[in-house]
This record gives sequence, C-alpha cells and structure tokens, in this order.
Amino acid sequence: ATPTALTCGTTRLNRDGIMIKSGHVMETIPEVDTYAFDKTGTLTQGEFQVTQLKRFDENYSKQQLLALVAALEAHSQHPLAKAFTQYRDFAINATEIKVHPGLGVTGQVGNDKISLGKVSWLITDSNEAKQLNCDDAQIAVMINDKLVAAIYLTDSAREDAQSVLSALKAKAMTTYMLSGDSSAGCQQIASQLPIDHVHSSLSAHEKMEKVKSLQSSHTVAMVGDGVNDTPVFSAAHVSIAMGSGTDVAKSGADVILLNNRLTSLSVLRHVAQKTRRIIW
Ligand code: ADP
Ligand code: MG
Repeated sequence: ATPTALTCGTTRLNRDGIMIKSGHVMETIPEVDTYAFDKTGTLTQGEFQVTQLKRFDENYSKQQLLALVAALEAHSQHPLAKAFTQYRDFAINATEIKVHPGLGVTGQVGNDKISLGKVSWLITDSNEAKQLNCDDAQIAVMINDKLVAAIYLTDSAREDAQSVLSALKAKAMTTYMLSGDSSAGCQQIASQLPIDHVHSSLSAHEKMEKVKSLQSSHTVAMVGDGVNDTPVFSAAHVSIAMGSGTDVAKSGADVILLNNRLTSLSVLRHVAQKTRRIIW
C-alpha cells in the first residue's frame, strides 16, 4: 500500500498544478513547523511601479534619469526591471551591461559609467545613505561613481497571501519574510499581512544562513519565486517555488506550484498528511 498511497497523493497534487520533484516531500511536509517566504514575486505579484525619485544632481532631469535606468534595466530579468519599460528612450543605448544577481546592474552609456541597484551595495557607508535620507530606497543610481538618484517603488501583495498566512497561523505555523528588499519595501507589504517575522536587506547568502539557523530547532519550508533562490532552496528542508519565476526550472526546488497559487501550500500539507497516515 505504501507506493500506491504515494502515487495517489502525487497524482492528486499534479492535477491541482502542484508538481513534486523530490521523493522526500510527502514525508517532510507534515513535519514542517516554520514557513519562510521570499517577498518579491512570492508574497507579492512582482509588478512594481515607481512612486518616487529623489534627485541628488540637478544636472539631470527626472525624465533623463528614468530613461538611463530603463536603458540598463532592459537587459535585466529582475521583477524591478519591468517598472522602467515605460520610461524607455530608444535613442539611449547601454553597452557593457553586467547583471549582478540580487544586487543590481552596471553598464556604460556614452562616456558615462552607470551603476544601479541595492542602496547598501552602491553606498557602502551606511551613514552616508542615512544622511542623504535614501537608506530606505529600493534602487540607488550612480553616474561615474557619484550618487545621482534614489528610486522608490511599490508592489502589491498577491491576492491569496492574506488567506494562506492566516491558514498557516491557524495551524500554529511560524512564518517569516526573508527579503533582499529594503526595510521600507518589506514593511509596506508586511503591514498588510499576518506574518510573524520580517527580515529585510538580506543577500542570497544571508537568506541561506537564516534558514540554516532556524533549522537547528525547526523543520523549515522555504517558499520562493526561484529568482536567485538556489542557495536558500538547497539549504532548506523543503523548497517550494512559485511557477511564475523565470528561473524556476533551474532553481532545484522540491515542489513547483505551476498554478501560481499560494493556497496550494494548504492543499500540499493536507494531502501529504493523508498520504503519510496511509503509509505508516
Ligand atoms: P527579493 O529577496 O525581494 O526577491 P532580490 O534578492 O532579487 O530581492 O534583490 C534584492 C535587491 O537587489 C532589490 O531589492 C534591489 O535593491 C536590488 N536589485 C536586484 N536586481 C536589480 C535590478 N535589476 N535593478 C535594480 N535593483 C536590483
Ligand atoms: Mg526573489
């Protein structure tokens, strides 16, 4: 009856768009007491809009700065990049593009070297960012190593984020948000959701370290969109990827939510528990 129950469970989940990629999933899921979520593209839709641009150099207009950023972001797959397509000026071309995963993008426009991305990556002196009142921005922009702008964006929570977090709470699960985004960007989303703990401004490595430390006393499921998530996925007891992320196939997730529904986490738990009862 053991293999039959497993096959039934897996088939049932497949039919719901929940793809099981590793053999241990059905055994591990019922043990999970902690769910850690990536923010962008996982708890949120990953559709950003620019809300504010702070200028630090009067020589450039807002429009010019947004067009410069758009020229570089045209080469990035990051969810933040799409927010700039509408500002694209096709007369501006960026060359020597380098995409730095989880950090930002650098490139050359004419004689100018452009760098954009995470504030703490570009402004290494955190006091300087605080003094300029831009430490909570999502993107810093530098021209020839001089800070010219800080950009703020908003994203919205996925429709089913609220209900899945409430359902997990009702089952006494502890929930974490682990994000590379700024603390302001995380708070904007966390304040709308029943999530227990929020950790912002983490690198891919720090996310992995956080999950490892939780795992010394808990069984942890990491839920992400698969973008830059490979290290944290490989460390987690169980990794679950939203099907919408661009790198999902390569991310090595144990479970892929092809249906893109967070509520699948409850279905997965339910089916895994039932399957285990039949086996043991
Ligand atoms: P998350 O953990 O929310 O999924 P990431 O680890 O993908 O976020 O990115 C962390 C941060 O790095 C972003 O909030 C942003 O500041 C910066 N970043 C990464 N890629 C880009 C990009 N293409 N353009 C601008 N900023 C970027
Ligand atoms: Mg992400």
